[in-house]
Amino acid sequence: MPELPEVETVRRGLAPVMEGKAILSVILNRPDLRFPLPARFADRVSGTRIEKLSRRAKFLVAELSSGDALIMHLGMSGRFTISDGTRPGDFHHEIPPNPKHDHVIFHVEGGKVVTYNDPRRFGFMELWPLQQMAQYPRLSGYGPEPLSNTFSHAWLNEALKGKSGPIKSVLLDQRVIAGLGNIYVCEALYRAGISPRRRASTVPGQRAAKLAVAINDVIREAIAAGGSSISDFKAATGELGYFQHTFSVYDREGKPCKSCGAPIRRIVQSGRSSFYCGTCQR
Ligand SMILES: [Zn+2]
Repeated sequence: MPELPEVETVRRGLAPVMEGKAILSVILNRPDLRFPLPARFADRVSGTRIEKLSRRAKFLVAELSSGDALIMHLGMSGRFTISDGTRPGDFHHEIPPNPKHDHVIFHVEGGKVVTYNDPRRFGFMELWPLQQMAQYPRLSGYGPEPLSNTFSHAWLNEALKGKSGPIKSVLLDQRVIAGLGNIYVCEALYRAGISPRRRASTVPGQRAAKLAVAINDVIREAIAAGGSSISDFKAATGELGYFQHTFSVYDREGKPCKSCGAPIRRIVQSGRSSFYCGTCQR
């Protein structure tokens, strides 16, 4: 599932092709993704210009000259590809997109074709008045996101006070931090030396300071890794947002901790796998 860094990578890959460009036409191959596509979607988007492509948490927001925001979410398996009008024939990705799942196709000024492919269809696209983004319900109540000015040690310290749940679950709460998902929570807790099982209310203080730094670092590094992957992916397939990471704990159950050599453990919390080192993380 794409997390914040992957979505930011997609944004950075799409921006040069879409920002400042008119959308010449839109082809819908089905009426719905996770939700029905908005009424007259193709009509309302065609002929407008994308003034800016921004991101909030895991939402891509294309600011259209019509005054609408085109809000796009990749869900579990959504991906965008950029091509010159014909599908590239040779996919080097381990799971090449199946054209059968090409649901929305944008023809963009300048000759590029931006295709949204999503086998599981948990992604969605919506139109919402730009002037009223603060009222967009799917983002209301979201906390600050990593690397933003509002996300700080002080904020995290306050947010964790009085929370009796495990720190892992609290960090996944989008009201506490927006856009943080399972992978990067596991990685940040490892860096900060905090067990995912630790009660959140015992983290404030020095531990929270370390955790805030760790969260920003793992996100910053992942975005940098994604950025360096953009040119490779463009060359190979035009596909954006899925790239190889090297994780310290995520998906490494039984493998040695890179710091102490103890086997990485996996437990299930709130239905999600947590990976951690029982020696380094307390
Ligand atoms: Zn360890």
